[in-house]
Amino acid sequence: MRSTMMEVPLTLPLILERVERLFADVAVTSRRPDGGLERSSWGQVVRRVRQLADALRRAGLRRGERVATLMWNHARHLEVYFGAPAAGGVVHTLNPRLHADELAYIATHADDRFLVVDEGLLPVLEGFRHRAPFARIFVVRWQAGGALPDWAEDYEALVAEGAEDAPFAELDEREAAGMCYTSGTTGHPKGVVYSHRAYVLHALMTSLPDSIGYTMRDVVMPVVPMFHVNAWGMPHAAALNGARLVLPGPRLDALSLLELMVEEGVTLAAGVPTVWLGVLQALDEAPGRFRLAPGLRLVIGGSAVPEAMIRGFDRHGITVVHAWGMTEMTPIGSVFAPRPEFDRLDQETRYAWRASQGLPAALVQMRLVDDDGRELPWDGVRFGELQVRGPCVTAAYHARPDAAEAFTDDGWFRTGDVATLSPEGYLRIVDRVKDLVKSGGEWISSVELENALMAHPAVAEAAVVAIPHPKWDERPLACVVRRPGAAVRADELRAHLAARFPKWWLPDDFVFLEEIPRTSTGKFLKRALRERFRHHYGAG
Ligand code: ADP
Repeated sequence: MRSTMMEVPLTLPLILERVERLFADVAVTSRRPDGGLERSSWGQVVRRVRQLADALRRAGLRRGERVATLMWNHARHLEVYFGAPAAGGVVHTLNPRLHADELAYIATHADDRFLVVDEGLLPVLEGFRHRAPFARIFVVRWQAGGALPDWAEDYEALVAEGAEDAPFAELDEREAAGMCYTSGTTGHPKGVVYSHRAYVLHALMTSLPDSIGYTMRDVVMPVVPMFHVNAWGMPHAAALNGARLVLPGPRLDALSLLELMVEEGVTLAAGVPTVWLGVLQALDEAPGRFRLAPGLRLVIGGSAVPEAMIRGFDRHGITVVHAWGMTEMTPIGSVFAPRPEFDRLDQETRYAWRASQGLPAALVQMRLVDDDGRELPWDGVRFGELQVRGPCVTAAYHARPDAAEAFTDDGWFRTGDVATLSPEGYLRIVDRVKDLVKSGGEWISSVELENALMAHPAVAEAAVVAIPHPKWDERPLACVVRRPGAAVRADELRAHLAARFPKWWLPDDFVFLEEIPRTSTGKFLKRALRERFRHHYGAG
């Protein structure tokens, strides 16, 4: 029997029409690259989106063609985020922190037809423009005047070609709407193509109260760049819920962020742990200086949130919400929320739970699989590879038949993460498969050692990496950044770890660094550390 339900396609224009109708006056604020604030509203944003979508069609953008962006988080980027898909095209966010060779590869592999670029990022573009397929390049200029290179056009002039009241295209929910490449720590980056349907479902599922839980009272600030997996879906979810949106532009240092959060009354912000580490240090240095909104929540993910960070923000009345996700998952896969029975637990036990990556998000199925492909029980102890399935999980990589081994024959995606799941359903990421330390046939979790090290008061940051070892195959090495003024020694850190881990887990050595190298999305670049200390234990 067929259902009698309407088959309304789940497309971004559905979200845009809602926010336009109900929340036209709700503010969208973005910090311009010159530091000033641009104040706009969802009504204005959607008018510009209609205009841009119309202009893109007039400029000859055909269904499914890619509009690349090379921009920071601001209102112009937001227009393209919605405008390219609303025109039937695909927004492909490029990460300006990548190497020029990588950008050339990605833009070519995605076959990007148009590019919209921040004027300030023209030097980045210059590094790969000749190797990229862009037919037209539109420059966002924050200051009027100034000549453009002859190969570039003015973005405002493009937008002016469209009509503000142009109707949205009729779209199929399965059509491509966006595209993003994983940073590909090994081999070439791989592209994921998101559908309208996945974006809409992702916005809905992350809006649930036990998920990120957006509401129309929220003031939402994605610190996570819009080029890092759809800014974790924040722009879409903020629009769906009619939340205020604050886009921080290129200045992502702790003080700039804190000032903006105070000024705009941000209630919900998101970013990777390294960003919030700086913010926490600034708060600790000047308690009470920043009058942040009461009830502020920080969604932190992208790499493991150390328990010490959750405790640290608690001291300032700020709630950390730990989330896990992947480019391949649009990206949210799990979000922490306490089950009601946790109310009865003591504070210490609750912290241990809160450091987990949380419960599988709605519409996300999970399973753990051992080396022999057998499914493991959810006992919170045994760990295996985490596999996922769901309507917001990619079923393939764009034009990469060679990467098919990431998908199982029965339709699950292999995350490449090693994890446990507790009987209650809480996910704990033990490590990435490639970051686990394989010592004498046993596995050591670098993440757990790092978390414990970062709980030491003298440690600002710590990364534990596997170093080749003549006897044990691999042994852990701890790379530690001390807090300013702290003078902790290796034997003290070893004693600190010895209190909670078996002896064979303890790093054979500790090296003290000025900083931990970072990936283009702000995660610890462990590959660089492994390379640098390759021979540290006399092998490799
Ligand atoms: P990449 O870091 O490879 O560019 P993603 O941004 O898609 O790509 O990162 C996904 C990976 O990041 C996950 O597979 C996982 O290893 C790691 N990750 C994301 N969130 C968390 C988290 N909360 N805790 C631990 N690891 C995380």
